[in-house]
Amino acid sequence: MAICNTCGTTILFGGKKVTGLRYCNDDCLAQLALAIAVDSVPQDALIRAAQELHQGLCSHCGGSGPIDIHTSHQIWSMLLMTSWKSTPRISCRSCGIKQQLGDFFFSLLCGWWGVPWGFIMTPVQLVRNLVGILRAPDPMQPSEQLLGHVRRMLAEPARFAEEADEKPHSLQSTG
Ligand SMILES: [Zn+2]
Ligand SMILES: [Zn+2]
Repeated sequence: MAICNTCGTTILFGGKKVTGLRYCNDDCLAQLALAIAVDSVPQDALIRAAQELHQGLCSHCGGSGPIDIHTSHQIWSMLLMTSWKSTPRISCRSCGIKQQLGDFFFSLLCGWWGVPWGFIMTPVQLVRNLVGILRAPDPMQPSEQLLGHVRRMLAEPARFAEEADEKPHSLQSTG
């Protein structure tokens, strides 16, 4: 029986065959193409682009760098509904801290009002913001996270534009 070369799923019927290898569908084929494109970004071009971004100006405030990825964490709840998300942004450190402080106080006010996920996830999101506020990325060089971002951007700019924000998690308790 055929097995998908990307995800390892057993292909019962249909599927795609490219240069002798089998894939479930176009998604698995596209995923493989992206992985190959990401792998083949030349290291020197990656470092150059990442350093340029890192030493450039902040696109939020226009201030000087270092620029890196700063992630802020938010949560809100309403009775049985709780929704949380983490949003990575490319900015200077002070813009990053501003977002993390904003999300910290938003979550402190709005996170708790859901059962049971508000009680469980609000402390998690608050601590994540505090960690981000207290721990600065290395100002001398781009973080691994920023390198990964630039690598994907160089590999496939069009696809990357669609994936800017992380989708929120939502949970609704039943019963
Ligand atoms: Zn597959
Ligand atoms: Zn800024």
